Amino acid sequence: MPRPAPLIENAVIIGGGIFGMSTAVQLTRMGVCVTLINDGPLANGASGRSLAWLNTARKRSLPYHRLRQAGMERYRVLSDKYPDADWLCFGGGLTWDAEGDKNEIAEVYRYERNLGYEAHLLSGADVSTTVLGVNGASVGDSGAILNPNEGWVELPVLIGLLADEFRAAGGIMITDAGKATPLVHEGRAVGARTASGETYKADVILMATGPAVPAMAAAGGISIADGTPTAVLVETQPVDHPLRAVLNTPRVAVRPTQTGAFFLDSGWPEDEVTQRADGSYEVPDWVTQGLLDEAQKVLDPRLDLKITNVHFGPKPIPGDGDPVFGQLKELPGCFVAFSHSGATLGLIMGELLAEEMALGLRHTMLESFRPERFAT
Ligand SMILES: Cc1cc2nc3c(=O)[nH]c(=O)nc-3n(C[C@H](O)[C@H](O)[C@H](O)COP(=O)(O)OP(=O)(O)OC[C@H]3O[C@@H](n4cnc5c(N)ncnc54)[C@H](O)[C@@H]3O)c2cc1C
Repeated sequence: MPRPAPLIENAVIIGGGIFGMSTAVQLTRMGVCVTLINDGPLANGASGRSLAWLNTARKRSLPYHRLRQAGMERYRVLSDKYPDADWLCFGGGLTWDAEGDKNEIAEVYRYERNLGYEAHLLSGADVSTTVLGVNGASVGDSGAILNPNEGWVELPVLIGLLADEFRAAGGIMITDAGKATPLVHEGRAVGARTASGETYKADVILMATGPAVPAMAAAGGISIADGTPTAVLVETQPVDHPLRAVLNTPRVAVRPTQTGAFFLDSGWPEDEVTQRADGSYEVPDWVTQGLLDEAQKVLDPRLDLKITNVHFGPKPIPGDGDPVFGQLKELPGCFVAFSHSGATLGLIMGELLAEEMALGLRHTMLESFRPERFAT
């Protein structure tokens, strides 16, 4: 059966991160004329400085788990299409907690097994022999969980590939355009206006502006709770190291990259970030050095790692932790995409949002994630 014809002719997408680009391509594949507007170059937001661990590890609601699993499946299909890609890797994920009352490893392992999510509980000694590049001695007595189906992606590379397809299919890309705003007429979103005042009319629009979504919604009187912190992502120099898995350890997350460098991330440095008068961010040296030291402890062989770059910026996280997807009830014609785990969800959400925007569908899979849950 052929795909249903779209009910709309054109769409405007504000935001050139993974959600905007992925939805733009899906709409174009459906025959919709799409204009994508980004303030700077593509992938200049969270998608350009993401750990981008593809996973549905740990305890989440069942709807969130299912959505993330669908997200991971889409990457599996993509990896079949690009079997030699060095920007997409399914090397597994390894997680352990600090020892003590808050250690959840046994509970999380049971939870994941109950859902049928592939998980193996390993001792430190098992880790040393099973997971290449990890120092098993750094794993506590509660052990670690290996999720072999997990992986990582270089979002800027993926966004670049999607952008190539988008342009080749006739999509209009406007980058370095400053802050765009939705164009509203008689209570409905009818397009977008760029910072220089140019207007682009459309049947529907998508606000895929990452951490800027809550403020843009608030400008229209619509509430979306925001829990966005300022994240720190440390990049090391490229090294020759066997690690392929993503590591989530008590004080550092480590993932290999396309260039052979490591990305290092954790929650605790977020508390140490300060903003300078010019808007840029900084952390004391002991914070970046702390991430580096923690990474050196968990890697085997241990390396003399050096920092080549520190990436700062908001990590989009809705106030209740769950994604926010779909049409704004208060502003028909305007859809939003605002989520943590946007790397994992990037491809699946492009598909689902495009179908909701173009075909007028309301996917059951997204019912828990509607923006109206924040309405007072
Ligand atoms: C340090 C870090 C670690 C992460 N780790 C993971 C992980 O391990 N796994 C995972 O799945 N996810 C992870 N994430 C989250 C994931 O990267 C994000 O959810 C995802 O990249 C968000 O994509 P987006 O398209 O919503 O936003 P963005 O990538 O921020 O894109 C939004 C774009 O819109 C532009 N923009 C904003 N306002 C306007 C405007 N008014 N007009 C025009 N353009 C505008 C921005 O400049 C930007 O280019 C992490 C994020 C960070 C920062």
